[in-house]
Amino acid sequence: MADYDFDLFVIGGGSGGVRAARMAAQTGATVALAEESRLGGTCVIRGCVPKKLMVFASKGAAAVADARKFGWDAQCGAFDWQQFHPKLMAELERLEGVYRKLLDGSGVKIFDSRATIVDPHTVKLANNQTVSAKHILVAVGGHPVRPPLENAELGLVSNDLFLMEELPKSVLIVGGGYIACEFACILRNFGVDVTMYARGAQILKGFDDEARGLLSESMRQCGVDIHMGTSIQEMCGAADAPSGPRPTGSDATMGGPVGERESLSHNDKSITDPKAAGPVWTKATTGVEKVFDHVIFATGRAPSTDGLGLKEAGVTLERSGAIAVDEYSQTNVPSIYAIGDVTDRVPLTPVAIREGMAFVETVFKGNPTPVDHDLIASAVFTQPELGSVGLTEDDAARNGPIEVYSTSFRPMNQAFIDGTARVLMKLIVCVDTRRVLGCHIVAPDAGELIQMIGVAIKMGATKEDFDRTCAVHPTISEELMTMREPSRRT
Ligand code: NDP
Repeated sequence: MADYDFDLFVIGGGSGGVRAARMAAQTGATVALAEESRLGGTCVIRGCVPKKLMVFASKGAAAVADARKFGWDAQCGAFDWQQFHPKLMAELERLEGVYRKLLDGSGVKIFDSRATIVDPHTVKLANNQTVSAKHILVAVGGHPVRPPLENAELGLVSNDLFLMEELPKSVLIVGGGYIACEFACILRNFGVDVTMYARGAQILKGFDDEARGLLSESMRQCGVDIHMGTSIQEMCGAADAPSGPRPTGSDATMGGPVGERESLSHNDKSITDPKAAGPVWTKATTGVEKVFDHVIFATGRAPSTDGLGLKEAGVTLERSGAIAVDEYSQTNVPSIYAIGDVTDRVPLTPVAIREGMAFVETVFKGNPTPVDHDLIASAVFTQPELGSVGLTEDDAARNGPIEVYSTSFRPMNQAFIDGTARVLMKLIVCVDTRRVLGCHIVAPDAGELIQMIGVAIKMGATKEDFDRTCAVHPTISEELMTMREPSRRT
């Protein structure tokens, strides 16, 4: 039998790769991991974690405004990005250190280097050193993509937003998905003028229509200027605008520069050239011309498979560039596996972690474990949040007869202070089996609520199980237990 340097070589130190490396090492396997950028990957360094910290920070003004209405003599000044941003950077450093420590503690050999695949058992590091392994696990994730538009490189992508040294006064966000909606709320609540162009009829394609409708209404009420059915047709630096520089949407001075970027490594290749970022003239498909301090493209993400040596090693890629894998995350080359966003199955951190754990179970514990991608709850961290698990009303209705239990109301804290914010609680029930097929919540902390409802739905709870669960009063979520009459049957 061939001798290898390691039992497992993991390419990519994000959530999935790090978990797989640690778990494999705990079985006694010899494990190495290469990361070209920063340990922690998209989730920790340029995604979920810094985004959620920005969400927390952005809630201050609304909390103070509500407190005043409850009777507090409270004042809220402007948000100080200069105070927040170094703390955010320091927290990411700390977390990166935690990841390194966890890997070290598990005996995983870390290579701070890009690694590419040479053949089914060999990888090459940036210094040309080759390392052999019995198994290779590709967990390199994905990167944000811009639309194919002239001067699109003048726009920022999500990676850049964590590196801004000053808050802009006005932004145009292009896209209507998770990232577009989350950053629209964050930046608006920081006091930025936010315009959103989304090409569809409604934001958040794929989510329940009623939830999408309420959320877009709430976002508009918060001051996000949403234009549906709209895209950018042309863009260029404001100084090069066809009829000369124009004022921004507000009477803003030109926004702050974007700070020094992390090194432009492969995973970060879509990061804008810092010199190029600045006021941008735009023309929408509706004909409207406007200058914004920044254009932000939140137009999707793509698997980072370019130049990894996968094709050369004979690994089959999907048309999207994602690595094709079976239910055990194995590619067509038996020694090469792939997990996480690079496989473009369900691009969410907890899913990548599960895929990593199932890989270790299968390959290092002799217990073949397919990954269960069914009924995965998720949340969009807008304000209010949108939590969702299972089928939307439209999808469920296509499968057979359903009952829809849905209620939208002003919660008691809003009613008390004459606020306008509404929430939505919605259950989709299969008429034949009585099982709850989907739950959709638009409410503060909907992410926390949907996590728990996800357990019941994963267990196959019926509407009658919800009915016989005694409500917790007074809460927003008690409505899920007390809706007795369906709003409609289809
Ligand atoms: P999404 O796929 O959610 O949204 C992409 C948006 O860009 C859509 O509105 C899409 O429109 C639009 N779009 C795509 N191409 C173009 C184009 N050429 N011109 C104009 N608009 C375009 O991607 P995101 O980048 O927001 O997020 C990527 C993934 O990351 C998500 O799918 C999610 O899995 C994950 N994520 C999860 C989060 C969470 O769990 N809270 C947070 C952030 C990201 P259309 O709908 O018409 O196709």
